[in-house]
Amino acid sequence: MNIAIMGAGLSGLACALTLEKYGYEADIYEKRSMVGDRFVIAEAMFSMFHTPFDDAVKFLSENHDIHLKPSSNIQKLYVYSEKETSCLEGHLGFTNMRGKHPESYEKQLASQLKGSITYNQNASYDEISKGYTHVVMATGDALDTKKLQPYDVAFKASFRGAVIEGDFDKTEVHVFFNNDYAPKGMGYILPHSDQEATIVLVYPQYPENEGLDKEQLWGKFLAECSRRLDQDFKIINDYSLEDYRIGTTKTARIGNTFFVGNCWGAIKPVFGFGQFESMLTGIYAAHDIAGIGSYEKLVQPLYQSYHDSLTLRRAIEKMDNKQLDRLNKSLDHALVADLITSKKINLFKILSRVLHPFSRQT
Ligand SMILES: Cc1cc2nc3c(=O)[nH]c(=O)nc-3n(C[C@H](O)[C@H](O)[C@H](O)COP(=O)(O)OP(=O)(O)OC[C@H]3O[C@@H](n4cnc5c(N)ncnc54)[C@H](O)[C@@H]3O)c2cc1C
Repeated sequence: MNIAIMGAGLSGLACALTLEKYGYEADIYEKRSMVGDRFVIAEAMFSMFHTPFDDAVKFLSENHDIHLKPSSNIQKLYVYSEKETSCLEGHLGFTNMRGKHPESYEKQLASQLKGSITYNQNASYDEISKGYTHVVMATGDALDTKKLQPYDVAFKASFRGAVIEGDFDKTEVHVFFNNDYAPKGMGYILPHSDQEATIVLVYPQYPENEGLDKEQLWGKFLAECSRRLDQDFKIINDYSLEDYRIGTTKTARIGNTFFVGNCWGAIKPVFGFGQFESMLTGIYAAHDIAGIGSYEKLVQPLYQSYHDSLTLRRAIEKMDNKQLDRLNKSLDHALVADLITSKKINLFKILSRVLHPFSRQT
């Protein structure tokens, strides 16, 4: 058996580490010149969205020997809608760095690897599949999957983001829902340190959003962030990203080709979280290759969670600013907050059932 992994990102590296754990070595091909060779941003993993794994970092460490050091514990989540603010408190999850940052999750994974990575190899599936018995497609790009099988795109996302300087608390994150600047989408601030944060505005590229003035939306969002956090920010680095496909495949593997991470459909459509699922799919594909599990069976709960998350997204997308205000206000009730932050309930499942009738309204 010889194994190729296309892509040294979260899913590819989690797969490689798990294969090593079971005594297999894979050839890893990475198209860039180093692991994490992309812009620096902070990302988050919220415990409430990963039920039944209440602490994803601990779970990966204790169950899969994948050890990650997040950059902070999230203790407060501020949610802003047009006229309401709510705050959830507790042990809510973690923020972590990505990309070129020395402590990015991809660099942390790569440092645990015993084998090597072949860089500057823009691997083509046609070529790779000729030389290997097993191929793990981990390029983070749904378009690579689409060349081999249908990939059901829920939506394409438009991102505008930046690193900003200001005054932050590393344990507090801020999320914004307002159709005036985030049409059917959201904005958020994730601190890297006391002085630096990632700021992101993301919304779907639906036909009704296409004619909107992107600069104007970004300007409005920045102004709202300044107003809510009561300070001016200095933008030190900004980027935009279009056509980021969020969707999933019908088939997790074709023969001995395994689709993992975004190539499988790891991103939960509602809020765009995909890191944990990316690593899990990488681990599960390795289990299959090592003969200790069936990849198709192992990803079943992730498919379910994807679909629950999509139902929830469709419901939230239908809400106008007044309804978003009402939803946000309800988060400030202690009982609702307890329910949401409880590690024992599957939030996506419950909310998708509760809001399902809403998602069907036209
Ligand atoms: C702006 C933004 C913010 C996000 N925020 C969050 C968040 O806060 N929380 C969260 O959980 N998720 C978040 N996500 C989603 C999360 O980042 C992804 O789900 C996750 O990184 C996907 O992992 P992956 O292994 O599939 O791909 P990646 O980690 O992107 O790795 C893919 C790797 O493959 C390489 N590659 C590509 N093509 C080839 C090729 N042909 N040959 C060889 N190598 C190749 C790439 O260079 C890269 O190194 C965010 C995504 C974006 C874009």
